[in-house]
Amino acid sequence: MALAERSLGYDTRFGRGFISGVFAVALAALGFGGVLCLRFPSFLTTPDARALYPLDLIRFLIHLHLVAGFGLGVLSIVLSRRALLGLTGIALVVTATLLGGSQAPIGTLGGTRALGLDWFLLNILVLAMLFVPLERLFARLPAQGIFRPGWLTDLLHFGVSHLLVQLTVLLTLVPAALFFKWAVHPAIQHAVASQPALLQFVEIVLVADLSEYAVHRLFHAVPWLWRFHAVHHSSEAMDWLAASRIHLVDAVVTRALAFVPLYVLGFAPPALYAYLVFVSFHAVFIHANVRFDLRALDWVVVTPRFHHWHHAAHPVDKNFAVHLPWLDRLFGTAHLPPGRWPDAYGIAGRPVPEGYWRQLVWPLQRARRRPSPG
Ligand SMILES: [Zn+2]
Ligand SMILES: [Zn+2]
Repeated sequence: MALAERSLGYDTRFGRGFISGVFAVALAALGFGGVLCLRFPSFLTTPDARALYPLDLIRFLIHLHLVAGFGLGVLSIVLSRRALLGLTGIALVVTATLLGGSQAPIGTLGGTRALGLDWFLLNILVLAMLFVPLERLFARLPAQGIFRPGWLTDLLHFGVSHLLVQLTVLLTLVPAALFFKWAVHPAIQHAVASQPALLQFVEIVLVADLSEYAVHRLFHAVPWLWRFHAVHHSSEAMDWLAASRIHLVDAVVTRALAFVPLYVLGFAPPALYAYLVFVSFHAVFIHANVRFDLRALDWVVVTPRFHHWHHAAHPVDKNFAVHLPWLDRLFGTAHLPPGRWPDAYGIAGRPVPEGYWRQLVWPLQRARRRPSPG
């Protein structure tokens, strides 16, 4: 792939300064972001999470990131004799140090609710540490590389959706409470919430996936909804980062509707949190560029191969379930030829533009002609 061989003017092969440069920028940016969170917690951190942070450990991690970012920045310049990535990393480390570095004083805490920079940093750190090695070791398409075409667009999708987490959570939860309070019955909620947590978890997966199946199919069938969802299907490379390419409207509407039955039934918070943790890993895993053939699980829980077929360029409109593949069997939309993976991903005719901002406004622009679903 052209972009995998040359990027930003760098030779991307190992030992040529590109990989160290990217890691320099990534680590320095994480450390820099951590320092910003320490200095401006009111604007950049999620209020509910603040009390939970082990501050000494976080300061230590910031320290490690800044030192490693600096070292790799120098290494990148030496290896590549190009300065762009290395200097960017070093500049971020210097700025972070001027702001106090890992020992920066904690800024004033106010009631302001703004951006979830802490949420973004934690997630990108954990998911990258988990999925980058996994995809390198067990790649289905080893030639694809981490920096395949469109990776920056997907990173922006990841960044914006995490920074806006407080807003999107609010938009997910409020409609249920606003429009479906009438459907709540205390006796039913009490009965549901007093079941064992594990049973509630299984029920949440079932209830949420039933509504997600319906909403997802609707997003494929209704032309103006499809324009929002087409953004998710525009990825031609499947990997852990491609999971983030979701239009904000698609994400909020799908989650808000899936939350309605969970709200009405009144599941207990521990079971709901367990489900959230499960979803945040499982949703990324099923997009990953991994070759695992989990045949025993094929019809139990959605596997990467099952969801990759949902993203196939051909056939389209298959495998709508996000957790439970047998729902597609039940409703006649399953497609899982044994041992086979799709030849190509994306939408025929490539109707969706590249780039984050163009993808954000594209569904809102008037459709000239109906793009074919994929
Ligand atoms: Zn879809
Ligand atoms: Zn997907």
